[in-house]
Amino acid sequence: MSKSASFVRGLFDGELAEASLFPYPAPLSERAPEEATTARRLVTELRRLVDAGIIDPAQMDQDEIIPEAVIEAFAACGMLSLSIPREYGGLGLSASGYAVVAGAVSAVDASLGVLIGVHCGLASKAIVMFGNAEQKARYLPMLARGETLGAYALTEPETGSDAQNIVSRAERAPDGMGWLLTGRKHWIGNGQRAGVIVTFAQTPVERDGKMVQRPTAFIIRPDMPGFRVHGTIRKLGIRASTQAELIFDGIYVPDDHVLGEVGKGFKVAVNALNAGRLSLAAGCTEAAKLLVGEYIAYGELRQQFGAPLASFEVTQRKAATLAADTYAADAMVGALAAALDGGDVDASLEAAIAKVFASELIWRASDEMVQLAGGRGFVKPWPYERYLRDARINRIFEGANEILRLYVGLNGVQGPAAQLQELAEALKSPLQHWERVAEYASDRVKSALGRHEKFDARFHARLEPHARYIEKHTAELARATERAIMRHKKRLIERQMVVERLADMAAELYARAVTVSRTQRLIDTQGLDATTRELDLCDLFCVTSGRRFRELRIALQEGGETIDDRRRAIAAQLRADQGYGTTAALLDVPTPARTPPSLTPPAAPEVPELVETQ
Ligand SMILES: Cc1cc2nc3c(=O)[nH]c(=O)nc-3n(C[C@H](O)[C@H](O)[C@H](O)COP(=O)(O)OP(=O)(O)OC[C@H]3O[C@@H](n4cnc5c(N)ncnc54)[C@H](O)[C@@H]3O)c2cc1C
Repeated sequence: MSKSASFVRGLFDGELAEASLFPYPAPLSERAPEEATTARRLVTELRRLVDAGIIDPAQMDQDEIIPEAVIEAFAACGMLSLSIPREYGGLGLSASGYAVVAGAVSAVDASLGVLIGVHCGLASKAIVMFGNAEQKARYLPMLARGETLGAYALTEPETGSDAQNIVSRAERAPDGMGWLLTGRKHWIGNGQRAGVIVTFAQTPVERDGKMVQRPTAFIIRPDMPGFRVHGTIRKLGIRASTQAELIFDGIYVPDDHVLGEVGKGFKVAVNALNAGRLSLAAGCTEAAKLLVGEYIAYGELRQQFGAPLASFEVTQRKAATLAADTYAADAMVGALAAALDGGDVDASLEAAIAKVFASELIWRASDEMVQLAGGRGFVKPWPYERYLRDARINRIFEGANEILRLYVGLNGVQGPAAQLQELAEALKSPLQHWERVAEYASDRVKSALGRHEKFDARFHARLEPHARYIEKHTAELARATERAIMRHKKRLIERQMVVERLADMAAELYARAVTVSRTQRLIDTQGLDATTRELDLCDLFCVTSGRRFRELRIALQEGGETIDDRRRAIAAQLRADQGYGTTAALLDVPTPARTPPSLTPPAAPEVPELVETQ
């Protein structure tokens, strides 16, 4: 495998493509000292805004708005230009620099994290990656100065996860110089304030001599006739960030507003989201670091049964687990950011894993914080209930975690599946196709010989056992993948319970490998004595991750999957009964049905006062 090969992709084939992970990358301060200084300046400025009361997370949550003063302060210090190249007036931060600053913003306030993520990470970044010279010159300077905000409008009432099948349409305009855009987008971050909106609509394109509909990306402006903001939404969390419903009522969009190529809009959408997943993971990880601190501080303060909560073993078990998981998430964010900065690297599976891991970590961390704080965790004015509300969305947006797991699993099995496809056909009638089966068996021996199944990297004795387990478990993942393909053949795509387990096994391995790699680097650079704290975190994470891996492997073994048949049968029964439908233990009265769900809100909310863009 080449140096730029994806580590995660290789795992499914039993390959340890370690060049992308070992040695662990140097911190930003060593790789790019000037950029590290800029990142530090912005983080300091952020703290100043909090200390000065300009950023007040509790107040913003209550008012459900980010005050203009905060946006102006962000614009003044360059916070809205993070991902925009210097030639267009931006700070031109690398993926690593961007992750540091965006992570710090999210940790201070999740709504501000969404504002930055949408403006810098999605909208501006899509133009940086896919805009032509003229589009960049027209839009990036105004976005960098913060004269207006950017939005990224993909989701529609009909299509969320299945984004490729959006129903908004763009037809050629009668003058032949533009497009007429019709559709509806909902829950669009910054949508009510944005002056530059990157959006997507189906367009007719020719493929293999036939006309088909394929998404195209467009840049639209709110002053284009036919554009309307329908209203904003009220939410469980990230209440200060605004999401709006946007109506495209035959908007005339000139040809020079097409972003990238006609019919290639899905590529724009996916690439922007891939980049966005790093900052989301960084935000969740930085917030988790703060929560570990608050957890301990609260545990020391609150006394019950004559002792601080922090002195009880149950509290300690939870704190240690959160700290170890946070250490692993941090290692993942560092490795992913450096990989993206390295350029020519296929890191989409790693980005998906980091997003899933970090978003589930911050959910667990804020849930445990609420639990430790007891009643104070549930009520205002303590901030813990807000942390929990704010954390929830991370598992849903920028790719729901279930979808990302399937993405990792299905992409991972693609390599082995391609090799095995022919064999699977042959196995249908093995005697007839014996030659092909024998050929495959000898190919397996050959490819196993050439395969990189052991680490070349050198490990400290404390880390050796972890490295050996990663090697052993990688071989087990390859075997489990092969077995799943042979067993389910083409139907594997429908066997989501199997695919998601394979994805989780790969995620455990990736998380462990980056954690070990980071710890080895710390030992190399600062010595063993200065690394005892990190070694403990690494040990705890690797051991618990190994246990989770084993459970997943057992669930995939012969017999393990039979419980999936039971799950399918129960789900079929629930669907047939349209509910629980089971006799009650105490008094057999039927469980009443709740009001049937609806996919549309009861009434359109009032349009709040519009803030002037430019
Ligand atoms: C606060 C907020 C901010 C947002 N900001 C933006 C924004 O700025 N721009 C934008 O374009 N969008 C935005 N969104 C939309 C967001 O990206 C979508 O909500 C998300 O992609 C999921 O789509 P959906 O809500 O339609 O859920 P659905 O697609 O209906 O999916 C619901 C659930 O079903 C499950 N599921 C779906 N498909 C499958 C499958 N094939 N197999 C198994 N399980 C499946 C998943 O668990 C998923 O969580 C935002 C949403 C919210 C709530």
